[in-house]
Amino acid sequence: MSRSPEAWLRRLLSAFTASAQLLAPGSAACLLCGKPQQSARSAAAQNHSKLPPQLRKSVCGACLSAIPWIARIRCAKCGRGIPCDDCIRRPHPSFVCNRSAVHYNEMMRGVLAQYKYRGNERLAPLLGGMLQPVFEALTAEISAPLSNRPSRNGRPNKLIFADHWSAVTYVPISEQRAADRGFNQAEQLASQLANQYGIPLLHLLVRDRHTEKQSFKTRAERLRDTRQLFIVNPNEAAKLQEHLARPPRILLIDDIYTTGSTAEACSQTLLLNAGIPIEVYILTWARS
Ligand SMILES: [Zn+2]
Ligand SMILES: [Zn+2]
Repeated sequence: MSRSPEAWLRRLLSAFTASAQLLAPGSAACLLCGKPQQSARSAAAQNHSKLPPQLRKSVCGACLSAIPWIARIRCAKCGRGIPCDDCIRRPHPSFVCNRSAVHYNEMMRGVLAQYKYRGNERLAPLLGGMLQPVFEALTAEISAPLSNRPSRNGRPNKLIFADHWSAVTYVPISEQRAADRGFNQAEQLASQLANQYGIPLLHLLVRDRHTEKQSFKTRAERLRDTRQLFIVNPNEAAKLQEHLARPPRILLIDDIYTTGSTAEACSQTLLLNAGIPIEVYILTWARS
């Protein structure tokens, strides 16, 4: 099933015209298609019982079923669901790996456009909720040796997500863009995840200069532009020194992973300027 971005935008707009319903107790319209729904009680939603409650409550069963989750990872480095050239071009990135929640298809493009460019911040909890399953899967992936170890009573230890991360941070936007948009989508997603799991949120990176929208550029232009684009906030980086037991493990959040050049530029800056050895993992909402 493919729909044009315009069609999705129209559907989304109609959803928000009807969205006043959402504020009224007892009624619920799907945040994606705007159709009334029986929230989490609908039969279709029951099939998605592993998803976070805020997703099941705000999205109807049909839309939940249409979300293009990345179920099978084909590239262990960048988390892509299809074979990938980017990691062949960059065999030794500064980050450990990237994991993304969804494929960036037309539907997801429409959702992100509503949130990011049309400023519909009510979609933030939805996108944040969509990051939870992939965050939990990534944590399970990196903690496997630890969580498989039996605890003193002989049962496997329950995965405590916060134990495996020192801090959550995000890809910054320039002051000019922050002023235009009013918010940084990556910061909002990072802040939700940090709150949800009780992990410190650090504002580690600052954008050094303003660049044109990445989406209008060629791959070569993007790679050139992301060099020396970020600087480290020394006061926030100093907080990493408190983690002396092991290299601090940082989770860097962004909305979308395209060529990986932004992830690479941020990780490189962090590695070079953190003052101590660290590990950077990338978590993105969509993999294009
Ligand atoms: Zn729907
Ligand atoms: Zn890859």
